[in-house]
Amino acid sequence: MFKIIPQNDRRQAKLIRRFFMSAGSYLMCILLIFYGHFQGFSLQLSFPLLCLYSFTAMATQVVFYAIFRSGINKRSNDPSLTIPQMVVAVFWLSVVSFYCAEQARSLILLFYLVIFIFGVFKLQVYQFLLLSVFALGSYMSAIVMLLVFRPEAVNIRLEVLNCVGLGIILFWFSFVGGYINRLREKLVEALGIIKKLATHDELTNVYNRRKLFESLQREKALADRNGSTFSICMFDLDLFKEINDTYGHLVGDTVLKIVANAIQNDLREEDYIARYGGEEFVLILSYPEVESAVKCAERLRTLTENLSFPGMPNSFNITISFGVTGYKSPESIETTLARADAALYRAKTRGRNRVEFDKPS
Ligand code: GH3
Ligand code: MG
Ligand code: MG
Repeated sequence: MFKIIPQNDRRQAKLIRRFFMSAGSYLMCILLIFYGHFQGFSLQLSFPLLCLYSFTAMATQVVFYAIFRSGINKRSNDPSLTIPQMVVAVFWLSVVSFYCAEQARSLILLFYLVIFIFGVFKLQVYQFLLLSVFALGSYMSAIVMLLVFRPEAVNIRLEVLNCVGLGIILFWFSFVGGYINRLREKLVEALGIIKKLATHDELTNVYNRRKLFESLQREKALADRNGSTFSICMFDLDLFKEINDTYGHLVGDTVLKIVANAIQNDLREEDYIARYGGEEFVLILSYPEVESAVKCAERLRTLTENLSFPGMPNSFNITISFGVTGYKSPESIETTLARADAALYRAKTRGRNRVEFDKPS
């Protein structure tokens, strides 16, 4: 069914919500003009023509909506179409200024600020300045046209004051608006980093413990509901303390990164790797049979054994030990992890660089 705001594209949905705010400003301005008209501040325009102009202004908004809703805006360098929307709004405001009753024209200037507020979502200072020049130019053109066609409707001293006031305010707003936009960009960037840190391990860039438990709970819920199952591989680097003691912690860190990334790159899309703690990691594999997970662990064990580490002697190699098990509904995640841990412990006591498994009974 057709939705006014699309549900499957969050970015487009955000832009369309913002568009409705701008369309709301058009409505606000049109309502004010009608109110002024009925209060006797009649425009230099007949009532039917006033209706026609208002309708045309709203029609330009429908065109923008169609552009957003069809996705054509995505082809633009700036899919929010902030500048085109502001230019169209400035144009309409100069039309209003042209027809406006003389006493009410200063009030119209307030709407330039309403338009410029939309710029804080996107524009830099120089773009604000260019738009200020355009806005001032179009207001002045409306006044010049009035001087030509209806000179009796212009109080020159008042209009010079309006233009100077508008120029100063838009110039000031260009800097403040540009500053707010920079702050907004920094906030978006910081939010991205926070989101990443909430789910990823900073050193190895694989999922962290928090995300691991979240994923395990989700897999458990799915398995409990569908009767499906999944496997878990816990692995730990062998004799890693010696590496730290011999080469230092920084080399140890690099080794951790290389091993974690090599394993991550070898996994299928639907499998996860997460850092469980220290030099221990957990894989969540969507294999229902433990045997398939064991085969996968064997492959990863061999891959790690053969990894080369830049800057280290050729003889340098790393091995890992695995404990593999499967989830058995409806046991707790802790029970599954404890079984994988016990298998891993066995792999360590049986000589390391090996895979041990426990099938859930
Ligand atoms: P085993 O084969 O029995 O696992 O021996 P091991 O030496 O790997 O085990 P142990 O638990 O004794 O040592 C783990 C070491 O891992 C100790 C700790 O300093 C190191 N380690 C844990 N996290 C990090 C890390 O983020 N960076 C570095 N460089 N070392 C870490
Ligand atoms: Mg270890
Ligand atoms: Mg350990």
